[in-house]
Amino acid sequence: MRVRRTASRWSDASGALSTEYVAVLVLVAALMTALFALPRLVGDAAEQAADCLFTADSCEITPGDGSVGEPSGETSPDTTPAPRPDGAPPLDRTVTHGSDGPTREEGDIATGDVDVDIAYDAMQVWGDYLWVTYGRDSIDGEGAPLLADVQTQDPDTANARWDRDEQMTYYRDGWLSPSVLHHEFAHGLVQWQTGGLRSGRTGDAVQTWALNEALADIHAMNVTREGMLGHDLPDRDDPVRSSEDPGSTSNPDHVDQYHEAAGGHANSTIISHAYWLMTQDIGWEASEQIVFLAVEEHVDQDVRFEDFRRAMLQAAEELYGADSDERRGVEEAFGEVGLDGSWTGP
Ligand SMILES: [Zn+2]
Repeated sequence: MRVRRTASRWSDASGALSTEYVAVLVLVAALMTALFALPRLVGDAAEQAADCLFTADSCEITPGDGSVGEPSGETSPDTTPAPRPDGAPPLDRTVTHGSDGPTREEGDIATGDVDVDIAYDAMQVWGDYLWVTYGRDSIDGEGAPLLADVQTQDPDTANARWDRDEQMTYYRDGWLSPSVLHHEFAHGLVQWQTGGLRSGRTGDAVQTWALNEALADIHAMNVTREGMLGHDLPDRDDPVRSSEDPGSTSNPDHVDQYHEAAGGHANSTIISHAYWLMTQDIGWEASEQIVFLAVEEHVDQDVRFEDFRRAMLQAAEELYGADSDERRGVEEAFGEVGLDGSWTGP
């Protein structure tokens, strides 16, 4: 039961039409896009919380953010392509290197640049995960390209980020690892599943921001079955965030510790910790199916914490039944973080 979103602002619409008709359509579409995009982009800059990896308040550049870790070394890790799953649709990967390094496109052999090759391989792991686990062909379900700019010079990237409009990921030097890449592409998946969560920096929209970050961590966790993110970054022993033990990375594990001003990344662990507890109770396989269905079918663009709990319960019920251990597991896990259907926010 999967509902694909219809063509949206960032997708192409196509059909078997005459050239003249298409030309008129393109002109009209361009005018409409310009009319819609302008206020939207202004609004984005003013209010939208960015889809990035880390920093307490935003994705804005702060000194030192791009300098963690060593520059790329001379040799790449094992770049032997893993076998693709049976029946998997073709991938469409492109990795660019923001500092005059090589570009690697789908089917190209390893470049020898560590970051380029790590990104290329990690994108296969991500694409194969979506296919094997959800029968989904890339983030949009229709084979969307997977794009990464490593060692990026992009001025908007503090560490790593997903660009909603460009449908592309960026990574500063020292901020590329498989788990981080999976987090960023998970933002793309959630964007396609929901039409784009309307996260914000103030009020209840901070909950939506935190949910967006939690979902990105949750999907990254699902790939590796580990309760942490960013532990695989170069020269880093501790994770960026721990969903297993949020306190170890100075993040909250209960809504009593929700702090609006701390922003989406900090508060995300309340939700991702509930998810971690779920996985330990009812298993990863059930948990990942529940969260996928919940977001696909029962989450709207302004989802808040208690809305998300309800969506998860609904999905568990649909998949496993109202009296199932899985539904009970969801209820107990959210209860552990203080979400029992009655939390009204700070
Ligand atoms: Zn993020």
